[in-house]
Amino acid sequence: MKIAVIGGGPGGYEAAIYAAKCGAEVTLIEKEKVGGTCLNRGCIPTKALLASSDKLSTVLGVKKFGIQVNGEVSADFSCIMQRKSKVVQGLVNGVQFLLQSNKVSLINGFGKLKDKNTIEVEKADGNIEEVKADKIILATGSIPVVPEFLKYDGKRVITSDEALELENIPASMIIVGGGVIGCEIGQFLKKMGTEVTIVEMMPHILPSEDPDVAKQLEKQFRKDKIKVHAGDGILEVNVEENSVKVLLQSGKELEAEYLLVSVGRKPYTEGLSLEDMGVERDNRGRVSVNEHLQTKVENIYAIGDIIDTPFLAHVASKEGLIAVDNALGSNKKVSYKAVPRCVYTYPEIAAVGLTEEQLKTKNREYATGIFNFVGLGKAKAAEETEGFVKVIVDKEDKLLGAAIVGSHATDMMQVLTLAIELGLTAETVGDSIFPHPTMSEAIMEALHDVHKKSIHKA
Ligand code: FAD
Repeated sequence: MKIAVIGGGPGGYEAAIYAAKCGAEVTLIEKEKVGGTCLNRGCIPTKALLASSDKLSTVLGVKKFGIQVNGEVSADFSCIMQRKSKVVQGLVNGVQFLLQSNKVSLINGFGKLKDKNTIEVEKADGNIEEVKADKIILATGSIPVVPEFLKYDGKRVITSDEALELENIPASMIIVGGGVIGCEIGQFLKKMGTEVTIVEMMPHILPSEDPDVAKQLEKQFRKDKIKVHAGDGILEVNVEENSVKVLLQSGKELEAEYLLVSVGRKPYTEGLSLEDMGVERDNRGRVSVNEHLQTKVENIYAIGDIIDTPFLAHVASKEGLIAVDNALGSNKKVSYKAVPRCVYTYPEIAAVGLTEEQLKTKNREYATGIFNFVGLGKAKAAEETEGFVKVIVDKEDKLLGAAIVGSHATDMMQVLTLAIELGLTAETVGDSIFPHPTMSEAIMEALHDVHKKSIHKA
């Protein structure tokens, strides 16, 4: 079986490696660097930068642990950016090595569908190569949304792509959009010394999470002196030589060295010739697929940011594996019941399943259990008492959703993700033994709190 994958992001490269491991003859077509948005312009560079700003905060906060730091503590921005690029390059090299060792043939060029079994690849030198395949997986990812009135120019008005390549610490930045990307980049830059102002249309930042979750981060942002204008929008933007002036709907005027547009991402399917092939897209440009990730053209599958599922690397990867299984003859579906959503700010945020807001909208009965980290021995010992665990259950005690705000939230969430995926109850999960002392004990306490039996809660 010959499988060709267009796009080498986390969806595409994992699909390619997995297909090769399953015995297929695989070609991966990538126009830039393997790793896609995730490795080159997304998950990894942001986390590498946040790791540096976290280290800075740690060093600045060690005095209370009885540690003396003699001498000045400061951030070397160009070193931080170089380290970030080194981390990215190391992982890109790692993916290239994995592709090679699994005998995936990688073609560097722009892929376009010629017919349902042929891809025409235009290489950097202008040469065209044709790739024949029995099954094709489209994994061409997404690009930032840049509404015209925000006057994106890539210099003063930028997206995350340019923000991750800045050469100097900006004096000031206005961030349009208080979603995950805006919050992560905003907090990193603030710790570097940038004056950061976030403008969010919705009533609170991280609008897809519950207000109590967002409020905890807003509280930290107040401590960090990050200004947040929630429930306000941008009316007008004026780009000047060294600054950007912004008029908000509320009438407030803001000015900064840069304007970062982080209002979302959109599928990137340009030049693929989808329509000529009969591959349909919806009115928002997302490739339409059935529950087996198959497009209207039977042997062509689509995964990741180009379809109508959460724009997340782990979703793209999972879809890649399922698309391969289906291309090889299975009839599998991806379960989207428990997709973890992570924000790598301080405090970290992780959420999974349904939110309280979603349940209220659906008029569904639910109960919650909540436990604040301040009640935990490990949190006190580590001075990590900010935040809480919240679990949401239905009337049969079955877990429907959860949120963790606090240290190690993103790593701890998998317990609850698995529980929701398996349809477990708060009682069953809470009855298992959690190690002491750990931050994860807050999960156990929140599960017990559903039945008002949390030992360490008043
Ligand atoms: P992509 O990663 O976008 O890869 C698509 C690839 O296809 C690209 O390499 C592109 O060059 C290539 N391509 C496109 N068209 C063609 C063509 N015609 N021919 C050849 N090649 C082509 N997600 C998380 O889960 N966790 C995070 O912490 C996280 N942080 C993020 C931070 C930022 C700043 C951003 C922007 C995104 C972040 N994301 C995060 C989202 C995540 O990066 C994406 O959801 C994920 O990369 C999508 O994977 P994909 O394989 O669908 O597409």
